Amino acid sequence: VSDPVVTAARTAAADAPAVLGLWAAQPSGSTDLPGLAAMRALIAERAGGLPGSIEEVPLGDGPPALRISHRAGATRRVLLVGHYDTVHTDEHPGPPVGNPRPEVLTGPGVADMKGGILVLLAALAGLEACPDAARLGWEVLLTPDEELGAPASLGTLRAAARAADMALVFEPAAGDGDIVVARRGREVLELTVTGRAAHAGRNPWEGRSAVGALAELTLAAEALSSRDDGVWVNVGLVSGGGAVNVVPASARAIVDVRAPTADALDAIRTGLAEAAARLGARREVAGHVTRLMACPPMPRTPGALALARAYFEGADRLGLTVGAVEVGGVSDANHLAAEGIPVLDGLGVIGGGLHGPDEWVHLPSIAERAAAAALLLSGLAASACA
Ligand SMILES: [Zn+2]
Repeated sequence: VSDPVVTAARTAAADAPAVLGLWAAQPSGSTDLPGLAAMRALIAERAGGLPGSIEEVPLGDGPPALRISHRAGATRRVLLVGHYDTVHTDEHPGPPVGNPRPEVLTGPGVADMKGGILVLLAALAGLEACPDAARLGWEVLLTPDEELGAPASLGTLRAAARAADMALVFEPAAGDGDIVVARRGREVLELTVTGRAAHAGRNPWEGRSAVGALAELTLAAEALSSRDDGVWVNVGLVSGGGAVNVVPASARAIVDVRAPTADALDAIRTGLAEAAARLGARREVAGHVTRLMACPPMPRTPGALALARAYFEGADRLGLTVGAVEVGGVSDANHLAAEGIPVLDGLGVIGGGLHGPDEWVHLPSIAERAAAAALLLSGLAASACA
């Protein structure tokens, strides 16, 4: 394909493999403040080649987000989102930075998502080579806390989504290069049971075992899962009791719930509360369900599917095979979709081993995905009203 947009995106990505090696060598775990500051400086230096203004956006007491924006007054505005933190720490290190094969780079955050940031920046360089670029305003928001669930950047992300017509997120591709059009929502629930203690050798019949009740509640929770409906209830942690010769008076479980709709998430939480109430009445214990964390679903919408079709057109021209999938993991895309705008995710690199000791990226995918995203952006510019 000889197209100025594709050529500009590929040119901008030409040195990305070398840059990614340097970026991966710079630790930037979500709680590593000096590391995050150094990573911001590296990204700002790289982004200096783009038009637009770059600024740090304060997020309370924590590290700032990076914002690069251009043509904020354009009729059509696209938000491009990434994160510059990683899950990796001294205790949970990623792989050493290296090339096990010439086209593969390993290292902490190479796929999730330092490689994705390089895709994003090169895609914008491609857009700027398009004669219609003047019709499309863009804002890049790179956050420091995605891997923590965006506690500090949530409000900024949602405000940016409200100011945009659509959002593109550069998390790694799913599978062999699929983009993500829907993500299930997630809730973390705490189940607590309070029973009555009694001596196991003297008056055990006067006790009410919280552990026994929680065991039943655990099975009730698992039974709410439905693979066909994309609903999964995982009891990931249980604790309870104390001394072995005492009927346990307290027990607790932490449950991870995934579901494709807000209604389905509500139904699971309500179902667990009802199960806890029934159990409480029968076993004479008190059971409670508390929501510790919630992330809304990113539903499959006509707007997101239209964006996906536009992406496929560009990918087709580049000879890339790309599908669109729904996944269970959450990302910043969930929060953006909650504002009602179309969102595409998984536009970053092809790689794997995310969050683990073998994280890797397929290096040619940086330029390929940059060119595909650049074609999407130039198409959005061309179809925007002047
Ligand atoms: Zn990520």
